[in-house]
Amino acid sequence: MTALYIHIPFCQSKCPYCSFVSFAGLEIDYDRYLQAVQSEIVFISEKLQRPLLRSVFFGGGTPTFLKSSQISDLLERCRLLFNFDASVEISVEANPGTVDQLYLDDLHRMGVNRISIGIQSLSDMELRILGRSHDRVQALRAFEQAQSAGFENISVDFMYGVPEQTCESWKRSLETILAYYPQHLSCYQLTVEAGTVFSQWEAAGKLRTPDENVIEQMDVLTRDLCQRFGLEQYEISNFAVPGKECRHNINYWLNGDYYAAGAGAVSCIAGKRERREADPLVYCRLMENSQGVIVESERLKNEASFRESVVMGLRMVAGVSCQDLYAHYGLGVDEYYGESLDWLKRNSLIERTPSHLRLTARGRQVANSVMARLV
Ligand code: SF4
Repeated sequence: MTALYIHIPFCQSKCPYCSFVSFAGLEIDYDRYLQAVQSEIVFISEKLQRPLLRSVFFGGGTPTFLKSSQISDLLERCRLLFNFDASVEISVEANPGTVDQLYLDDLHRMGVNRISIGIQSLSDMELRILGRSHDRVQALRAFEQAQSAGFENISVDFMYGVPEQTCESWKRSLETILAYYPQHLSCYQLTVEAGTVFSQWEAAGKLRTPDENVIEQMDVLTRDLCQRFGLEQYEISNFAVPGKECRHNINYWLNGDYYAAGAGAVSCIAGKRERREADPLVYCRLMENSQGVIVESERLKNEASFRESVVMGLRMVAGVSCQDLYAHYGLGVDEYYGESLDWLKRNSLIERTPSHLRLTARGRQVANSVMARLV
């Protein structure tokens, strides 16, 4: 499985909780940035001799901050330089307020077959707290327009644990979106990341997020409602109609290889992880002068990579294949973890099927503390 990630680091405004490489109000010529990304794509394809891609993912930032023709140019370039698997998954992250019917029609026509809409909430109050530049009406309109454009794989990003959010408001948002029958739903708990505006508010005691027990109720509610609407949980935070699981992200969780292009983008090939220059202007300058854009490079040792594969794979409901791990790393999970794994099994947090190691339903509820014992 080979995947390509293309990072578009521009947004309408910067959300106060966001720690992604994304910039609002940057004075930059977007065509210049896209030219630099195209040059990097050429560089990757030449180095690897037309690899076969099974997924292409335009993420951000807000890729739909660009014109649809600019996304089309990038995609066409990829088609010229790479081989595409017959069932290639081509995803674009979109934000309501940056797309309309014509835009989504264009994306569908150019071959994008999965659209991931960053809705986050259907409460206008929560959207304001999150600093999002759209409201509930725009969010639902974007979803309907994606359906009208012909997308049969629409994903929605939602966020819970938002300041002032209650179980009731989370339930209302979920029920509303599920009634539109998205094929995929990602529900991420808000985490306050260092360096964000939310972290400053938290330090000043001005950020009131829901208590742990409310979060647990929200978790239960999410699983119940998704199941009722035909979305199966396949990863800790992700639910999908069977067959519509995100191929690109599954590759990450299985610690597969992925190429990347764009400012701040991270690639990982044959165990070597590389991060690119995050400043889009510096990134452009480096590409234009044929200089390297990699600012951080790390090759994990065998054991560290093994542990990472275990922890990432356990995010999947199906768990991680013990045979695959052994074939790849020459290490057996039972022998490697010994008593720590036995303890997790005795406490019904992890179970071992004949082929896989996986979290139990109880283990998924406290996934972070389980992973901390294995990382
Ligand atoms: S839209 Fe997404 S990427 Fe952009 S600032 Fe908000 S959270 Fe960050």
